[in-house]
Amino acid sequence: MTTATPHRIVVVGNGIAGLTASDSLRTAGFDGELTIIGDEYHPPYSRPALSKAALLDDGEMTSHHLPAPTHEASEILGVSASSLDTDNKVVGLADGSEVPYDALVIASGSRARRLGSGDAGEAERELTLRTLDDALVLRQRIATQPSVVVLGGGALGMEIASGCLDAGCAVTLVSSDPPLVRQLGSHLSEYFLAAARRRGLTIATSPAREVHHREAHSRVVLADGSSLEAELVISAVGDLPNTEWLQSSGLLLGAALRVDSRGRVAPDIVAAGDVAAFPTARGIRRVPLWTSAIEQSKVAALTLVRGNDAPELSFQPYFWTEQFGLSLKASGYLPLAGDPEVLEGDLREDKALLRWSHDDGTGTAVAINYRIPIPKLRRLSSALAAAVSPAA
Ligand SMILES: Cc1cc2nc3c(=O)[nH]c(=O)nc-3n(C[C@H](O)[C@H](O)[C@H](O)COP(=O)(O)OP(=O)(O)OC[C@H]3O[C@@H](n4cnc5c(N)ncnc54)[C@H](O)[C@@H]3O)c2cc1C
Repeated sequence: MTTATPHRIVVVGNGIAGLTASDSLRTAGFDGELTIIGDEYHPPYSRPALSKAALLDDGEMTSHHLPAPTHEASEILGVSASSLDTDNKVVGLADGSEVPYDALVIASGSRARRLGSGDAGEAERELTLRTLDDALVLRQRIATQPSVVVLGGGALGMEIASGCLDAGCAVTLVSSDPPLVRQLGSHLSEYFLAAARRRGLTIATSPAREVHHREAHSRVVLADGSSLEAELVISAVGDLPNTEWLQSSGLLLGAALRVDSRGRVAPDIVAAGDVAAFPTARGIRRVPLWTSAIEQSKVAALTLVRGNDAPELSFQPYFWTEQFGLSLKASGYLPLAGDPEVLEGDLREDKALLRWSHDDGTGTAVAINYRIPIPKLRRLSSALAAAVSPAA
């Protein structure tokens, strides 16, 4: 079904998905009214930079800056969308106003999950890192070199731990599994763990049960009965999609917002980025990663302009992280089972190009401290590329 090009498009969410969708709408020729609603006051910024260079920048923080947008949309910033009426095609805002649309892009992203209640007092003691404002607070707090406990052994927890160590803090990371094992598999988890320990990270592999905040210290009680004291507790225990404002819209399946292979939720509504669960070769799922948000948004925007003539999403997973002096880029599905084929270099020298093959015939290429353009890494990751040499 090809829908008539809408006159008014509203985008909810001013992160990379909202930005990319808006720019892509213009590139695809949409010249009608474009309105972006975002609850942060800041222009879009690079969220991945917040746990990497931004924690280390000595002077003015600039690593999160993005190029200026080209969409020339009207922006309503610092206010949340609080409801969606799909019958009357209206987005309700928290300040009581309403914004009508002909077509809607849902790009409201996700937020940090918390272990505690998240009420004001507790949120101050259990820091998370999701927004630019969070990063500014965290930078200020770690500048005084407090003792730190990081809860969560995923990529974000490990990046935060790395940044805190570099800032001179004593850091213990609490993780229910060996850190990064669920994200990268045991081969690379062990490799990163060795680098982290060399830099001074202490690791406790037992789930955190309770966190008690006292005057100047917090106490983290672990499932194995032991406890840790620290001046600062930072949690990195996953994210939750921002779908509450869609509660009465009839678009949710439980708390999940599912889209089809063109990003469509309903005929005039698309969704993209961390908020959306989309069809992948491994099932319908959210893939809360930067390039995933960009790819989804481009497809979703084209769908609003071209309907079924828009191409379906051909999703190619891409992930990167920087921590403990190492950079990793991975093209293909994660985590990785077994040992890799070494295409170039040697992990023992902290520079290598590796490839894993999966049972379904796909592959994952991983570059460690290795400069390689993304398209080339993608070529190496595909099973067909088994014959492609790294020099090609
Ligand atoms: C610290 C950190 C490091 C990361 N590092 C990496 C990395 O190295 N590699 C990688 O691939 N990915 C990384 N990610 C993930 C990546 O940043 C996200 O996948 C990406 O930012 C998702 O973009 P998005 O636009 O979908 O959502 P978001 O960036 O969450 O943007 C959504 C925007 O919508 C706003 N919003 C929410 N609800 C409403 C509402 N009701 N009304 C109006 N506005 C609303 C939000 O405040 C936000 O500004 C990292 C994430 C974090 C937090």
